Amino acid sequence: MSRQRVLVIGGGVAGMALAVGLDRHDVAVDLVEKEPFLGGHAVGYTCKATEACVNCGACLVETKLAETNACRHLQRFSATRVTGIHRNGGYGVQLHQGPRFVDDDRCNGCGVCLTVCPQRAALRGGPSAHSRPFVTLIPANCRYFQDGSCRRCQEACPTHAIDLEARPVTMTRQAAAMVVAAGFEPFDPSAKSFAPPPKADRQGQSLAPTGNVLGAWTYPRSGVETNVLTHLELESRLRGGGLLTRPADGAPVRKLAFIQCVGSRDAALGHLWCSKACCGAALRMANLVLHRQPEMAVTVFYIDIQTTGKGSQAFYDQARQRMRLVRAIPADVRATGADKVRLTYFDKPSDQSIDEDFDLLVLTVGMIPARDARQLSELLHTPLDPTGFFLREPTGNGLFSAGAARGPMGIAEAIGDADRTVQAVLRYLQDQRG
Ligand SMILES: Cc1cc2nc3c(=O)[nH]c(=O)nc-3n(C[C@H](O)[C@H](O)[C@H](O)COP(=O)(O)OP(=O)(O)OC[C@H]3O[C@@H](n4cnc5c(N)ncnc54)[C@H](O)[C@@H]3O)c2cc1C
Ligand code: SF4
Ligand code: SF4
Repeated sequence: MSRQRVLVIGGGVAGMALAVGLDRHDVAVDLVEKEPFLGGHAVGYTCKATEACVNCGACLVETKLAETNACRHLQRFSATRVTGIHRNGGYGVQLHQGPRFVDDDRCNGCGVCLTVCPQRAALRGGPSAHSRPFVTLIPANCRYFQDGSCRRCQEACPTHAIDLEARPVTMTRQAAAMVVAAGFEPFDPSAKSFAPPPKADRQGQSLAPTGNVLGAWTYPRSGVETNVLTHLELESRLRGGGLLTRPADGAPVRKLAFIQCVGSRDAALGHLWCSKACCGAALRMANLVLHRQPEMAVTVFYIDIQTTGKGSQAFYDQARQRMRLVRAIPADVRATGADKVRLTYFDKPSDQSIDEDFDLLVLTVGMIPARDARQLSELLHTPLDPTGFFLREPTGNGLFSAGAARGPMGIAEAIGDADRTVQAVLRYLQDQRG
């Protein structure tokens, strides 16, 4: 009897855990990921261990990547999107794959191509040593696509993984069941309105009206030219070690502020949920930077701190000794003439509004439904829950969801959720076999 096949949409940690779990039960999996690399958001996180492991979960992603590489019945479709679905007993799924210049299955991660490429940024390495493929090719930066003058990587690759003539492909795959593991979207802070800043501060010094101002003006998405970063931008800056410096001028950060719940628990946005993973993430991140730069002063502005998970209360108690926790969400965020970030917040103990300057501000953005959630739900003819996330088993006919596609959750919880979904999928497949 031929092996039953399941198609998983999304190759983040939940999608990889589904693939690994189903593979272990001898089920074939098509893992469809829209990006060139597997791993989702969490593959960009830095390990936050200091003297000891702090259970941040970053290493779990590495483990899942390695396990995914060892799967026997897994077919990866990177840089691929689902473009159509029809029910035919199971699911007939139409996929569109962008040109795959580097073959996932052939690339063994040797890195030879990176050493022979004469062009900056023509080949981009994956986020992990376990990434397969290990590299992706950016045609806009590549000499082959500019004037045909180079084929060095293709000639040097020992496994013949590179095909510079690759074209996009459309194909149809047949699956007995499908799982949506398309994850979440980090909240974009520019969607949040802050009150307009005054034209001058209380001493009459003029304040920068644009650039570094959040809200109705501009939030700098790149994070390079100002001293405001999202938590996810900070994660990738600190990945692989190094000290925290100010993006604008490279100066060391002496005073660092985090604002929690940016885009979560916000009635004005209609986001009433807690994003669950991000209080722990911010405290562990603050702990890491203090470990690397003990001279730094860290302040965390919060609504209330959610400490869930093993050891988190003890970690919170320690954190309170090392950093200042202020129960207030700043109403104004703006740049000062001296290129500091000025926060205005209401200090309850003293019953007054306070202006305080920081070298760097980190916005702990919340988790909102994936950008593609609505489009996928329409393709799948399935409703979303009222918050815009997927229901676990929305239709009862072989369609499931798992991980942060179902709502905010941390890495370990997303893996546990995927493991439970594997069991539900196996039961469904068993019923189908009769
Ligand atoms: C600020 C912040 C900090 C965090 N820090 C931590 C932490 O320290 N520890 C922790 O445990 N958790 C943390 N988390 C949570 C963590 O990021 C999630 O638990 C984890 O990423 C969930 O994995 P996932 O696979 O469900 O979703 P994702 O990581 O979002 O992966 C989903 C994947 O699906 C792909 N995809 C989406 N749409 C499609 C489509 N249409 N077709 C194909 N592929 C698609 C995406 O490209 C992505 O690869 C944090 C979250 C936030 C917001
Ligand atoms: S040379 Fe080939 S096998 Fe080695 S990393 Fe590059 S594409 Fe992969
Ligand atoms: S063709 Fe040349 S320029 Fe383009 S990626 Fe390969 S080695 Fe780099």
